[in-house]
Formats: sequence, structure tokens, C-alpha cells
Amino acid sequence: MKKRLVILGSSGSIGISALDVVAKNPERIDIIGLSVHSNIDLLRQQIEKFEPEYVAVSDPDSCRRFKDSFHSDKTVLLNPDIGIEYLAELEQADIVLNAVVGAAGLKASLKTVRAGKRLALANKESMVIGGELINKAAADSGAEIIPVDSEHSAIWQALFSGKKKEVRKILLTGSGGPFRELPLEEFDKITRARALNHPTWNMGPKITVDSATMMNKGLEILEAMHLFRVPVDKIEVVIHPQSIIHSMVEFIDSSIIAQLSSPDMRLPIAYALFFPERIAGDYGYIDLTEIGELNFYKPDFEKFVLLKMAFQIAETGGTAAAVYNAANEIAVEAFLKETIDFRSIPDIIINTVEKHNSVEGPSLEEILAADRWARITAREIMR
Ligand code: NDP
Ligand code: MG
Repeated sequence: MKKRLVILGSSGSIGISALDVVAKNPERIDIIGLSVHSNIDLLRQQIEKFEPEYVAVSDPDSCRRFKDSFHSDKTVLLNPDIGIEYLAELEQADIVLNAVVGAAGLKASLKTVRAGKRLALANKESMVIGGELINKAAADSGAEIIPVDSEHSAIWQALFSGKKKEVRKILLTGSGGPFRELPLEEFDKITRARALNHPTWNMGPKITVDSATMMNKGLEILEAMHLFRVPVDKIEVVIHPQSIIHSMVEFIDSSIIAQLSSPDMRLPIAYALFFPERIAGDYGYIDLTEIGELNFYKPDFEKFVLLKMAFQIAETGGTAAAVYNAANEIAVEAFLKETIDFRSIPDIIINTVEKHNSVEGPSLEEILAADRWARITAREIMR
């Protein structure tokens, strides 16, 4: 039986990589729904190639423009206000790949899980801010959540080597980003172009800046905590500049199990789509003798305060994670528009989080309210 897939965020870096996996496996998987926010030119090409039953354009202006010129007997264009959520629980779908960027992906993650479908999760922000709600919904519906984030895919795979109670530690690896070796005194000189030049991964702009501040690793700590339901003190960050080991699990007998491959997101995407099967492919193929050397370092928490902060946010719990995430989205957006400098990103987030009174065990409405409050507060701080 062919699997039927919906991709939310098909115009992004993950979405495009996922469509490449689909194109190479036409006998195994069909695209039945796609969403973009504003990139309607790319959507047009994707519709032509994959002939989905439904598409959504979530930005209302872009949707209007698209509607004016789009005619098809095979593909239905959904309304922008409901499109993504409709796709997230589309009856005909087996798997929904959530590759939307940011907190905008939360409602879709919840809908997919509530509908009992497999959620292939790239949108880490939804797990970071709504992990408890998503996990509860998955427990109620029996939905599977398979991580796409390369580190979490590696951990998922390594966890099969033992029982949950035998896990001593999760070793979350990170390249350290482009500024791993840059002294803190020189962070003033970091430009947008330098921050967007990641040493090992080619990704969308937001996550690339998150990697440069190491906020990405902070988000991944919180993501891992919820995905694998482990206390944060069992998660350790290891800097590994080559990005060949994508994370490890240490068991109580001191064995460490790792997953290795070259940094190519198509590998964890294919794994999440076809799990428990592995499909033949060369994505991420490595020759270890050519690589020769793998290095490991402790993270520098003084230089990368947002990484350190993730552990505090995990301890605080509740809506603190939504605020940490939303303030970051606002700060990164401003940095990408070159209205703030690189060093202001952590300052804005720290200041916003300090002003927040976290609500424990939040409902979806409370998470969304905290997210909205943090965006307003971060903008005020920037002004
Ligand atoms: P991109 O910026 O490349 O793509 C984002 C996608 O989301 C695009 O399709 C975009 O549409 C859509 N989008 C943007 N804003 C909204 C919105 N408000 N509502 C609905 N859709 C929206 O991001 P990436 O592909 O790099 O990342 C996607 C997610 O995957 C992120 O959560 C990221 O952290 C995670 N991830 C990414 C990795 C990577 O290698 N890129 C690795 C691990 C995780 P449009 O382009 O039409 O505006
Ligand atoms: Mg990652």
C-alpha cells in the first residue's frame, strides 16, 4: 500500500528535501496535500509535478494572487484561514510532515496528532511550546510522532538499543555553528551574511540564525525532553563540529550508541516517512576513512547564553518555553531585516522571559496568549 502524505511548508528547505525523497520513491508514497505561506511560484511547479488533491496558501494576499491565476480539475485550493489545519487532519492522509517554521506550526501538530495520524515532525517549535499538549493528544489517539530533526532522529534510532529505564543520558550533538571559535568580544562584528553561512548544514534562514546563536540547540533540548519524555538533567550537549554523529544515547552500562551520516536532511526525512522500514538510498552516505577525524568539545555557556537558558526554561516549565521561543522569532526576524545586531538577539529574549510569569500546565489558549504577549513585549523592548 502506498503511503499518502501531506507536507505543510512544502516551499521550505525541509519541504523541498521531502519532495525529493517522494520523487525518488513514487511506488511507495503519494503526495495528497501541500501548503506554502507565500511562495506561490514554487507551489505551482510542485502541483504540476505531484498533482496533490488539496493545496493551501496561508498568507491571504498570496492566496488571493494565486487564486486569480490557478485553474485545475485535480487540485482543490483551500481557504487561507483554515487550509493548513484542514490539511493537518485530512482524512485521506496517513502521514503529515510538519515543515512549517516557528510557532505557526503548533495548531497543525496538534490537529494531526488528535486525528491519530503519523506526525513526521520537523517543526520543533511546536514540540518546544506545546510538548505536553501534543504528548497527551498522542497518548489519547495513539498517533505516532516521528522526529525529523536530525539529532532527534539519531536519538530515536539509538534508543532501540536498550530499555527506557536503562538510559543514563542523551548526548545531543551540535556543530557549534559558525561562531564556535569566534571570541565573544568579536560578536559585535557579526553580520547577517556571516550568520547565514553555516559550516555544515544548508537550512532555512531562521534555523540558520538559531544555529549561530545556539538557540537551535536550546530548542532541541526542550524538544528532546518532550519527545523522549526525559528530565532535562538527563540531556547533555556535546559540540561535534563535523556534524557526522547526529546524537547519541548513553546507557547504564556505559555503552554509547550513535547514528552517523553526512549532514543531509533527506535521510532523517525518509526515515520518518517510512519507519519502521529503511529504504535503500545514498542520502548521507559517508566514507569514514575519508573523514578521518571526529572531534568533541564541551559547549561554551558563557558565549552562548541562549543554550544555557534552555535548561532554566525546562526547569521553569509551563508557558516560559512559548515566551523563550516567540521572543526569539521576533529577534531573529529583526536581525534578518538588519534592524538589530547579533548581540541584541539574546538580550531581547532574556529581557522578555524575565518579564513573564509562567503559567503551569497551560492550555492551548494559554500557550497562544503567552506567545502573543511575548511578541508584543519583545517588539517593545527592541524599540
Ligand atoms: P524554511 O524557512 O526554509 O521554510 C519554512 C516553510 O514554512 C515554508 O514553506 C514557508 O512558506 C512556511 N511558512 C512560513 N511562515 C509560515 C506561517 N506563518 N504559516 C504557515 N507556513 C509558514 O524553514 P526550514 O525548512 O529550514 O525549517 C522548517 C522547520 O523545520 C523549522 O521548524 C526548523 O526548525 C525545522 N528544521 C529544519 C531543518 C533544516 O535543515 N532546514 C533541520 C531540522 C529542523 P513560504 O516559503 O511559502 O513563505
Ligand atoms: Mg537539528
